[in-house]
Amino acid sequence: MTAPLRIAIVGYGKIAADQHVPAIAARDDMALVACVSRRRAAPAGVPAFADIADLRASGIAVDAVALCNTPEDRPATAHEAIAAGWHVLMEKPPAATLGAVAGIGRAARAAGVVLFASWHSRFAPAVRRAAVLIGRDPIRSLAIDWREDVRKWHPGQAWIWQPGGFGVFDPGINALSIITAILPVDLQVAGATLSIPADKQMPIAAEIAFAGVGVPADAGAVFDWRETAGERWTIAVATDRHALELLDGGARLLVDGEEAGTDGPGEYPALYARFAELVAAGESEVDVAPLRIVADAFTVGGRVTVEAFGD
Ligand code: NAP
Repeated sequence: MTAPLRIAIVGYGKIAADQHVPAIAARDDMALVACVSRRRAAPAGVPAFADIADLRASGIAVDAVALCNTPEDRPATAHEAIAAGWHVLMEKPPAATLGAVAGIGRAARAAGVVLFASWHSRFAPAVRRAAVLIGRDPIRSLAIDWREDVRKWHPGQAWIWQPGGFGVFDPGINALSIITAILPVDLQVAGATLSIPADKQMPIAAEIAFAGVGVPADAGAVFDWRETAGERWTIAVATDRHALELLDGGARLLVDGEEAGTDGPGEYPALYARFAELVAAGESEVDVAPLRIVADAFTVGGRVTVEAFGD
């Protein structure tokens, strides 16, 4: 058996603890050897370092990092990890700007390390089946309805409201990551409306109208962080053969109103399985299509100031 891939997690917040640590622990070809956290937070028994320089100075051998820090912090840490010769898995969205992602990609290629800009929702259990059922069929309708309670899912995450924090597009980009993977069309942004609370810098709600060759005229997305009673993460797609509804962020699929089965081990186990494949093959995977849609929505979207939200 080959030695396990020695991974350091950079940024030990909610997603690192909830998903990355158990996904790595479940694999016998990977081992979590360190965490890099400004607060020196880490799971019990795992050494924590304040920054990547301290980790390098420790002498602990590392093969790869999982960047679970914020999109704003990710480019600097990605470049440091690449300079150390480590493979890099990035949480979504890979960075706050397309230019930063391009720069990380160039650095990874020059250093000969693997770069995986991951989109966890693409590994949700029903997504692959939806993609197969859609195939290359013409799309007759597309509606994204993504509504959740920000206070429930993002308590205390001040960064998410700051420039580069994405606001409601932080969860919304998950829907965009799914449709850009499963629809046989090149989605463009025709227009957008961004609702920004008077006391914040990022949107609390947004609507996008899509355009593009083969994209239905009324194709669109609604993202709203003010939903408390009727949270939903739904993508409805109709072709001539099927009416599909991906529910719960891609965890479930209705085909013509009937519950369809799912496959795969779950988002993060499947994501790490893909990382293992990429490292073994020496290949990178970087798709900025979801980030480009958000960037275009910020570029062409009209701003509406809405009621201050508070904390
Ligand atoms: P988070 O919990 O706010 O953590 C982000 C950073 O904030 C951490 O890297 C950590 O940095 C710092 N931090 C965490 N808890 C803190 C605390 N109590 N006090 C001070 N600082 C603290 O954010 P997250 O939800 O893990 O999201 C990180 C990335 O993962 C984002 O790009 C997000 O889109 C993505 N993601 C999140 C989820 C989710 O459900 N939350 C799901 C999928 C993807 P240090 O360790 O350096 O201190």
